Amino acid sequence: MNEAPTVTGMVLSAMPVGDYDKRLIILTKERGRISAFAKGAKKPNSPLLAASEPFSFGTFTLYEGRSSITVASAEITNYFQELRGSLENIYYGLYFCEFADYFARENEDGTQVLKLLYQSLRALSKPAIGRRLVRCIYELRLFALEGLMPQVFFCVKCGKKEALARFSPEEGGMLCPECQRGKSGIPVSSSALYTLQVILSEPIESLYRFTVTKEVLSELTRITAQYRAVHVDKRMNSEEMLKLIDM
Ligand SMILES: [Zn+2]
Repeated sequence: MNEAPTVTGMVLSAMPVGDYDKRLIILTKERGRISAFAKGAKKPNSPLLAASEPFSFGTFTLYEGRSSITVASAEITNYFQELRGSLENIYYGLYFCEFADYFARENEDGTQVLKLLYQSLRALSKPAIGRRLVRCIYELRLFALEGLMPQVFFCVKCGKKEALARFSPEEGGMLCPECQRGKSGIPVSSSALYTLQVILSEPIESLYRFTVTKEVLSELTRITAQYRAVHVDKRMNSEEMLKLIDM
């Protein structure tokens, strides 16, 4: 018999199965997205009870059957307790997980997305940054990691670096005055453009160390939302709740 594999990861979602079990979607470093059963996880005395909740991060020892994977044991190092203290933060966190799940595939290296998700959930519990900014940063960086990085350093059509003032979600980035003719695009202030460049170039560990003005935040929100509308073909279930929170 093979030694039981151990993976490092975070629970993205947990679905009840029958009276006692749960089916977990776990984003792992080693294997990307996996679906695994947590047997008995709904029982109050189960050692998997707390591990079988969204955001639980740690190591999971797996048992691989012929057609399914089962979690044999879990050692959780971060439950994101601070995050769970606020309903708004929970909804934002669930949305982040659903967004990561949308892109995640089996048998791929999940290290970078896991790192981004981890840092972003931590940032949600820091009121100074603000949830809407965390969401913009998270989404933009996730796009970049998934091969959909918006081009914000030069004109996406001709490569010119000067006078970039409009963003085209359809073209996938900034446009110079010559290339934007006849195209609508979203106007982008120089502060918002600079912020976009920081978001898309800083190491993940340093992403949540700045804040922006209200004006820049509303530009970033608009750009990110329109970019998402063009490049993501699924509506996240958890997004409806965010709308209520941000009203
Ligand atoms: Zn151009």
